[in-house]
Amino acid sequence: MKTLAYGFPKLGEKREFKSLLEGFWKGKLSEEELIRGMQALEEQRALTYSQHVEYFPSGELSYYDFMLDMAITLGAVPKRFGSYEGLRTYFEMARGGQALEMTKYFNTNYHYLVPELEGKDFKLLENLPLRDYQFLNSKGYSPLPRLIGPYTFLRLSKILKRKEEGPFPLYELAKLEGQEEFEEYLNAVFPVYEELLRSLSSAGARRVLIEEPALCLDMQEWEWELVHETYGCLSKHANIWLITYYDSVSDYRRFVELPVKALGLDLVSNRENLESIQKYGFPEDKTLIAGIINGRNVWRANLKEKLELLEELSRYAKDMLISNSCPLFHLPVSLEPEDSLPEGLKERLSFAKEKLKELKSLKEALEGREEALKEVEESSRLSSQAFAVKEEVRRRVASLTEKDFEREMPYKERARLQQELLNLPLLPTTTIGSFPQTEEVRRARSAYTSGKMSEQEYKEFIRKQIEHVVRVQEDIGLDVLVHGEFERTDMVEFFAQRLEGIATTRHGWVLSYGSRVYRPPIIYGDVYRPAPMTVEEITYAQSLTQKPVKGMLTGPVTILNWSYYREDVPKHEIAYQIALALLEEVKDLERAGIRVIQIDEPAFREGAPLKRRDWKAYFDWAVKAFRLCSKASPQTQVHTHMCYSEFNEVLEYIYQMDFDVISIEASRSKGEIISAFENFKGWDRHIGIGVYDIHSPAVPTKAQIRAVLERSMKVLPVELLWVNPDCGLKTRRWEEVVPALKNMVETAKELRKELVKA
Ligand code: GLN
Ligand code: ZN
Repeated sequence: MKTLAYGFPKLGEKREFKSLLEGFWKGKLSEEELIRGMQALEEQRALTYSQHVEYFPSGELSYYDFMLDMAITLGAVPKRFGSYEGLRTYFEMARGGQALEMTKYFNTNYHYLVPELEGKDFKLLENLPLRDYQFLNSKGYSPLPRLIGPYTFLRLSKILKRKEEGPFPLYELAKLEGQEEFEEYLNAVFPVYEELLRSLSSAGARRVLIEEPALCLDMQEWEWELVHETYGCLSKHANIWLITYYDSVSDYRRFVELPVKALGLDLVSNRENLESIQKYGFPEDKTLIAGIINGRNVWRANLKEKLELLEELSRYAKDMLISNSCPLFHLPVSLEPEDSLPEGLKERLSFAKEKLKELKSLKEALEGREEALKEVEESSRLSSQAFAVKEEVRRRVASLTEKDFEREMPYKERARLQQELLNLPLLPTTTIGSFPQTEEVRRARSAYTSGKMSEQEYKEFIRKQIEHVVRVQEDIGLDVLVHGEFERTDMVEFFAQRLEGIATTRHGWVLSYGSRVYRPPIIYGDVYRPAPMTVEEITYAQSLTQKPVKGMLTGPVTILNWSYYREDVPKHEIAYQIALALLEEVKDLERAGIRVIQIDEPAFREGAPLKRRDWKAYFDWAVKAFRLCSKASPQTQVHTHMCYSEFNEVLEYIYQMDFDVISIEASRSKGEIISAFENFKGWDRHIGIGVYDIHSPAVPTKAQIRAVLERSMKVLPVELLWVNPDCGLKTRRWEEVVPALKNMVETAKELRKELVKA
C-alpha cells in the first residue's frame, strides 16, 4: 500500500516563510531574494515529504494564499488593481489598501482571500501551478500539481453583479436567482482549467491533485450534475486525483460516480463516509484515497485502530492509498522543539511532521516491519490510558441540571433591575475591550517573559497602562469603561495559560493568513481554574472610577474553537468544563463589585458544521455552554461580543444565549446585519451595532457614525441600542482611537438631546 500526504505547513520550522515575506514587505529583501528563499523552503518541504510518503503535491507554497493563486492563475484580477504585474499586483490584491476580502476557509481558522469575479472572461494569466511543478521537477521530484477545483473555487467566490451593492457570493445569487448564473461561470472558467491541465500534462505531470472540499457542503441535484459533467471533460486532459475534506461528502453515491482516477475521502471527521462505503461499496476501477490520519488535530493516532480501519476498507476498495484526512497546515510543523509541555503530553502528540511519520509507520507495519509494529503497539498503549483526569470536574459536569443553564430572573425583570443600578443614559457608549497594544506594551511583555523585567515591575507597568486608559475613557465621556486588556497577548492564549488541563506551546505556530501566525492551545485534560484569572486587573480599573468597568472574559465556545481539543470526551463536555471554570471567575468578579461582565464569543458561529442538518446539535450545546458560564446574579449585566458578517442565519441561536447586551460588527457588511433584525420578531435584548470599522485606520466622521445609528433606529427601538466600535482596538494607534471615540461619544450625546426634545 502506498501513501499520499498533502497540505504540509509552509511556515517552516523557524517560521522562515514569515521572515521572508515580512523582510520583503519592509524592503529588506529584494524580489529575487524572496523568490530564492521561497524556493529553498519549497525544496525543503519536498525533501521532508519524500522521506515519508510516495506521493505529494507541488504548488502548495503560495506566497500569500492558495485561493489568491488560483484566482490569478485564472485571470480573475479585478480592474481596480490595473494590469497584472506579477508580485506587485499579487500583494496589492492580498494586502493593499483595496485588498480582496478575507474570510475563514470552511470551519477552520485559516483565512483565504475571496476571489472577486467581475466578468466571465477568464484566461490563463499566470500559470502558477506549472511554475511550481517545474521547479520541483527540476530538482528531481515528481510531485502532483495541486489545484483548487472549479466547483470549490466558484462556490467560494463573489461576483460583482450590481456595482452599488459590492461583491456578492455567486452561490447565494444562484440560490436566489437560479442556477444559470453559476453554470455560466463554470462554463467560463472551465476552458482555462482544461488548458491548465494540458500544460501540466505536457510538462510531464502524470497526475494532478484537485481539491474539492466544497463537495462536503450541502449540495443540490443540479450541482452534482454540473460537477459530474465538468470532471467528465477535465479527465480527458489529465489523470485526476480528486480529494475532499473537513466532512463527509454531501452525496456519496454521486461522488463515487465522478469520472476520475482516484477519490479522496475524509474518514476522520465523522463515520458517515465509512458507513457509505460499507453500504454502497466502492467502484472497482477507482483508487480510494483513505484520509485516516487527522490533519487538523494534534493527537498521536492509535495506529492499531487505523490498521483495523484499513483492513475494513480493503474489503470494499481494490486499490487504496493511505493519506491524511485534510490539509496538514492546521498543525504546527514539528513537535521536536517543544520542551515545556506538561508531563506525559508530548508522547501523546503529533504535529505535521509526526503525521507524516505515522503515514509511513502504517505502511511499514502493513509490510510487517519490526520498528513500525512497535510503533503501533506503543501508540495503542498510550491511547488506551486515561490522561489528566480530574474526578471532581467530571462529577460537576455530570451533575449539571437544566437549572444550571437558566438565569434566576427573566430578562425583562433583570433588565429593569440592572438599569436601576447602573442608571445608564439612552444610547450608552462603550468599547469592545482592548486598547492599542503599542510597541511599548509589547516590549514590556517580552522583557517580562524573558526575565529581563521582574514580575513586580511588569505589574506596575500594566497598572500604569490601566490607569491611563481609564483616564482617557473618562475624558472622552464613555459610559461603560474597560481596562484595556494590556496584560493579554491573545484572548484565548491568555485564559489557556491560566486554566489547568490546557497547554500552550512555545513553538507551535500556525498560519492564520498571509504571514500572520498564532499558537493554538491544546486542551488535553479536564479543565479547571486553579485561581482567579482577571480579578486583579479589573478591580484595579474599577477602583479608579465611579463608572462601571466591564469584567472581560473569553467565552467557552471561542476557547474551544480556537484550540486543539481532546477527543476522548465529547466536545460539549469540554465546553461545559471550560464554562464552569469561567463561571467561577464570574462569581469572583461579582464578589469584587463588578457590575457588568462581557463574555466574548467571536468564534461562536464559525464552529458550526459544514452541513445545515448538523447545526442544531452544535448550537444546542454551544448556547448551553454560554448560558452555563453566564449564570450571573440578576443584577449583573452580561454582555457578549461577536464579529463577523454571516450573522443573519444564526440570529435565532444567538438570541437563545440569553445575554443582556450584545455588541456586533455591522460596518463592513453594509447593513446586512441590521436588515436581519427586520425579520426577527420580538428581539428585546440590548444591542450595540458597531458604528465604525476598527480594521481601518481612518477616523470615522460624526456623520458616518450617525448614519449607522439612524439606520439601526429604523429597525430596532432606540431604548435597546448601544453605541460602540465594531471590535477591539488593540491593532489601532492612540492617535486614531481617541478622535474616533470622541466623535462616537459626541454623536451619541447629540442624538440623545434630539430624542429627548422630540
Ligand atoms: N475583547 C476583545 C478585544 O477587544 C474581543 C476581540 C475579538 O472580538 N476578536 O480585543
Ligand atoms: Zn470582535
